[in-house]
Amino acid sequence: MSIPTENVGSLPRPAKLQAAIADYDAGKITKEDLKVEQDAACKDSIERMEATGAPIVSDGEQRASSFATYPLADTLAGTGLADNLAGDGQYFAIFTDGHHRQLPRLTGGPFKYKTYAADYLKEAVKMADKPLKQAVIAPSMLSLLYPLDGEIEGYTREQFLGDLVDECEKDIRLCFEAGAKRVSIDFTEGRLACKNDPRNPWTGRKMLDSFVELNNRVIDRFSPEERKNIGIHTCPGGDCDSTHSDEVDYADMLPSMFKMNAGYFLIQLASEKDKEYVYKLCGEHSREDANGVPQVCFIGVINPLNPTVETPEQVRDDLVTAAKYIPVERLGSTDDCGFSPFSVDVKPKHGSPDAARDIAFQKIESRVKGTQMASEQLGVA
Ligand SMILES: [Zn+2]
Repeated sequence: MSIPTENVGSLPRPAKLQAAIADYDAGKITKEDLKVEQDAACKDSIERMEATGAPIVSDGEQRASSFATYPLADTLAGTGLADNLAGDGQYFAIFTDGHHRQLPRLTGGPFKYKTYAADYLKEAVKMADKPLKQAVIAPSMLSLLYPLDGEIEGYTREQFLGDLVDECEKDIRLCFEAGAKRVSIDFTEGRLACKNDPRNPWTGRKMLDSFVELNNRVIDRFSPEERKNIGIHTCPGGDCDSTHSDEVDYADMLPSMFKMNAGYFLIQLASEKDKEYVYKLCGEHSREDANGVPQVCFIGVINPLNPTVETPEQVRDDLVTAAKYIPVERLGSTDDCGFSPFSVDVKPKHGSPDAARDIAFQKIESRVKGTQMASEQLGVA
């Protein structure tokens, strides 16, 4: 069997779609008008991703406000915010270039998703010829909706976490029911949890192990057969061509991450300074048997924050090196992150979101070609 390859999820939204989102927030156009632009962007994303030769594709998350807030609001500005939420929650992250992203704040219970990822997937399956993957948000990220200190009157933290685990399980199950072949859980907050940024208090609370435990409360509800197709994505963030936690040593995070009983991991790696060090950590800490499933390590071979397109030969060489440390039957390739996890992203280093889309498809094509070359070189084609 050749080495599998899979994207994380998002693509930059076309400039036209980003303009429509702004018009929708300003009340100038209706939700139906916005949907016309989202439909066009999804169709273009799926068709162009299929044309790269990728064996599995996504809609590029063109309908989502962001990878983290899609269940909660129609747009990043907060239009259509779900019940029991206010806009002024804690920071999710403060990025290296100085910008930040903020989460909503829970004001009461019960906690319910307004939108499930499968709502997007049901539209995407009508447009796709190839199998689809869908990314969903981790319960650990959404646990940050609850105030860091104190309790909400009439809705304890434990009640909230119970509702959250139910909603996350439902989000994943609905994706499979709607036809997803694979579902990956975005866990960008894992590496951030190892950082202690006084401007962002939750990062100093050593929450990584409780995040892992919470996520396993969801993952462990699935059978080994289902968990083969449930993944976890880790990265140091990727927004406006900037990161939030790339200085955190992976040795502080990966041993905990692999305690999650998922069947595969999409691991940012192309932009690491010392890739072999991380391949070795993956080889040491990923498990042959995670409660009935082998853990497959999809290593990042494409950097979505850098407009320079990697060559297929570079991709091949990364995989061949990684195979020194990770058994080839548990090796895959991926992009370091989604190409635009947040809907409003001008992709400054790329010149424009439309230019960044063109580059993204070239990068995906290199990943696909290079992975095939590595499969041949490693004798698994
Ligand atoms: Zn990411």
